Amino acid sequence: MEKPIYPSKYMRITQGYNIGSHIDSYAIDEASIDSSISTINAPFTGIIKKIYPQDANEVWLESTEPVEYPDGTIDYMTIMFAHSNDVSDLFVGKRINQNEPFYTEGTKGQTTGNHCHIECGKGKFTGTGWYKNNGGSFSINNKKKPEECLWIDDSITIIDSANINFKKIEKDIEEPLQPDNPEKQEQDIPVDNKKLIFICPKKDLYGIYLEAQDKLYLER
Ligand SMILES: [Zn+2]
Repeated sequence: MEKPIYPSKYMRITQGYNIGSHIDSYAIDEASIDSSISTINAPFTGIIKKIYPQDANEVWLESTEPVEYPDGTIDYMTIMFAHSNDVSDLFVGKRINQNEPFYTEGTKGQTTGNHCHIECGKGKFTGTGWYKNNGGSFSINNKKKPEECLWIDDSITIIDSANINFKKIEKDIEEPLQPDNPEKQEQDIPVDNKKLIFICPKKDLYGIYLEAQDKLYLER
């Protein structure tokens, strides 16, 4: 199951949520490494549900499958991206793979400088995708904080997180090459450390009394 990954390899959040033009929303503005136009990667494998060229080329991407939220919740996720100058290669119903560069920063709509406005929503795309909030802007339906939706990993360089703490995907611990079992340990004991107890005089069946945990080495 996919963990939605932060959509830029360089995190430089120039405006956090609930301030400025983001009042009453959980929107963040991602500007990446510099003032040029950077690409935005798909946080999860998804389907484009809506494009709104009349404003800021807003694009809604809905996950094709339920994804894992940082708190362990399993549900669909929908994210809205805004301000790309060119979405001519996108269409409703287009499938985008996780980590695929599919959107770009830009200045379309009301912006100062190239960036991507990102809003996360819990669950599938609903209604028109957004509603007018108390700040007078349109916010994604079922809005949820970005750090409650997106993960980071070692491939992402944090320049400015705007004091938002994202949960990190920890690498899986590698399995040992050999199982750590007693038989293997016995084989590892050098011959020099074996203690000779008895030399068998002739071929026969012998009985021996052993205490618990005693080890018996037989050498031929
Ligand atoms: Zn914004």
